[in-house]
Amino acid sequence: MEVLKKKILSQGTVIGSEILKVDSFLNHQIDVKLLNEIGLEFKKRFANQEITKILTVEASGIGIACIVAQYFNNVPVVFAKKHEATTLDAGVYEAEVFSFTKNKNYKIKTSKKYINKEDKILIIDDFLANGNAALGLISISRQAGADVVGVGIVIEKGFQKGRICIEKEGVKVESLAIIKSLKGNEVLFE
Ligand code: 5GP
Repeated sequence: MEVLKKKILSQGTVIGSEILKVDSFLNHQIDVKLLNEIGLEFKKRFANQEITKILTVEASGIGIACIVAQYFNNVPVVFAKKHEATTLDAGVYEAEVFSFTKNKNYKIKTSKKYINKEDKILIIDDFLANGNAALGLISISRQAGADVVGVGIVIEKGFQKGRICIEKEGVKVESLAIIKSLKGNEVLFE
């Protein structure tokens, strides 16, 4: 997606050789016009697929998923929670996820009320690195007996193993910008 790649090149900053910071349009301040273009692009990539729910993980995924949902008939967005919440019911699906950016394990949880076996789920997230967040969301969907239609990613780091791990699960991955390398502070796309 050319407009996204241009935005990454003009506003993204590289941390080390593996992390891209895009706080000016995706992870802190949000470019709503760009998110609408992202929503339209995901609609094209998953055209003619039945989708009943969008699943993501807090926090950065929520804003993206809510705009994307408007291109899929306003289906509900469910986000997995990362933090212990007293408001979360006892009945939850959960998965253990290793955080690439924080370098530690955490649990993601979703109430059993909001995903069920009739659901056809599109998973949406901001970044794909080693695939742990997406695999956790696939696990939660499958615990509920739901079908995972695909994983839609805004920025994939193609030099990490996320895509391979998700495809091994038999799930389609669509990424709007795939980065080949971040070495030497330079963003190179595939
Ligand atoms: P994974 O679970 O695929 O290893 O990592 C994906 C998650 O880690 C995403 O939800 C995202 O929040 C975070 N993440 C991974 N790599 C990056 C990165 O280069 N930049 C930013 N901003 N977040 C990242």
